[in-house]
Amino acid sequence: MAKDFLKGAADEYDVIVIGSGLAGMTSANILGRAGHRVLLLEQHYKLGGLATWFLRPGGHTFDISLHGFPHGMIKSCRRYWNKDISDRIVQLKNIRFDNPQFSLTTTFNRDDFTRLLTSKFGIEHSTVTEFFDTARGMNFFDDQTTTTRQLFDRFFPGRDDVVRLLMEPITYANGSTLEDPAITYGIVFSNFMSKGVFIYEGGTDDLIARMKKELISNNVDIRINCGVDRIHLDKGHVAAVETNGRKIKCRAVVSNANLRTTVLKMIGTEALDRDFVDKTQAVRLNNSSTQVYMALKPGQEIDESSGDLFFTSTSKEFRTDLLLSRDITSRTFSFYYPRARPGKKDRYAIVSSTNANWSDWADLNEHDYEASKQDLVETTIEALEKYIPGVRDKIDRAEAATPRTFHHYTRHESGASFGTKFEGLGVSRELPQQVGGMYHAGSVGIIMSGWLGAINYGVIVSNEVDQQLVRESSHTT
Ligand SMILES: Cc1cc2nc3c(=O)[nH]c(=O)nc-3n(C[C@H](O)[C@H](O)[C@H](O)COP(=O)(O)OP(=O)(O)OC[C@H]3O[C@@H](n4cnc5c(N)ncnc54)[C@H](O)[C@@H]3O)c2cc1C
Repeated sequence: MAKDFLKGAADEYDVIVIGSGLAGMTSANILGRAGHRVLLLEQHYKLGGLATWFLRPGGHTFDISLHGFPHGMIKSCRRYWNKDISDRIVQLKNIRFDNPQFSLTTTFNRDDFTRLLTSKFGIEHSTVTEFFDTARGMNFFDDQTTTTRQLFDRFFPGRDDVVRLLMEPITYANGSTLEDPAITYGIVFSNFMSKGVFIYEGGTDDLIARMKKELISNNVDIRINCGVDRIHLDKGHVAAVETNGRKIKCRAVVSNANLRTTVLKMIGTEALDRDFVDKTQAVRLNNSSTQVYMALKPGQEIDESSGDLFFTSTSKEFRTDLLLSRDITSRTFSFYYPRARPGKKDRYAIVSSTNANWSDWADLNEHDYEASKQDLVETTIEALEKYIPGVRDKIDRAEAATPRTFHHYTRHESGASFGTKFEGLGVSRELPQQVGGMYHAGSVGIIMSGWLGAINYGVIVSNEVDQQLVRESSHTT
């Protein structure tokens, strides 16, 4: 008989959180801590969503999205998780770039970028200062019509090399392009520039294990292998969710699943205003990714001078379409030294990541798909050989993930790595006005994606849910 993953679950909760990505888990944790009865439903057999990892024989562990996040993670993790977690966040000091326009190493913060822009790129100090101040002054309520390209044209006209330095890491970090609103660039760029790039020491597996412990201590009922198919409404308000053949009642739902799937499939268009449905249908998904995971044989090492994060490209110029192309020219390598997992086996791993289009991978037949994955692995090792000669012989195992992989494990439409484009944020925010008690927290609108963006969005939404529940309770007492 199939295992009952809902065994012992109650018939009713205050809140049901659908999806255990960082936004979903953070919402569940805050609401559990506030004393609400919370059920967290995850369709996968693991918690974490895209904040995930996998193991391979030989003592190898690969991280999928642990490459870097801004300093703000320390505060968010301390406040909304615990000190145990925030104390493990450390800075990555060795960020490298190599492309036909420049090669450099940086600590990736305002002081060091000012040094580079003035001394290496010959930009006036006053222009650099004004650019940083403008980017830092941007906020969500600003004008959304100015594009990132226009912002760069204003400060660095004709300087494709400067645009590349400023933009390439942010495109990597959240999928934003020169055509997106400048605020999606300015906010995220300034977050990184405040203090540099940070990482969680211990690995994603350690982080998620600590988060799970905290959720349990806050009485969150966690259920894996429980995909939600349908959210049921009663008189315009959420009433229950359907999972594994059971209908479980609730007063509020927070969906961490993809925004479009949540609205168009789980809720369904019949219950919603036509305008809202149109707006949701017009929300564009963000791009997906490919990755190649390479583990060194036990005893083999890579020198720390290889860097922590390494942005490489063979393309002469910086263009969004080239960053996404199947014909890969840009690769970002993350180097994991034994210090990434203190106390564990001394292992070295390298993960290469590249932004990618779903359409390039979606329709390949099984044979072509396997061949393309193999080609991706081969060409990536070849590219790495340029920087670490002889690395091919040191590699114990190498394998690839594609947009299909990300879709398979998270159910994100088109394997989107960063949720939706900017317009998704408005739809996500409007959802509770359409359906009482219905909220969405998860990667939308570029700003609210990435590890820090997802956690912070989970915080914002859980506060709104808390207010609703407290308001309703005070009406009934
Ligand atoms: C290759 C790659 C590299 C990245 N690198 C970085 C990085 O270096 N730094 C950074 O900050 N960010 C990075 N990111 C982005 C970051 O991982 C994500 O933005 C963030 O983890 C998303 O969190 P989320 O809460 O939006 O939900 P997600 O992680 O998208 O999780 C959604 C969850 O909902 C579950 N779910 C979906 N449908 C259902 C359903 N019907 N029922 C139940 N459960 C459901 C899914 O299984 C999943 O667990 C990277 C992403 C990728 C793909």
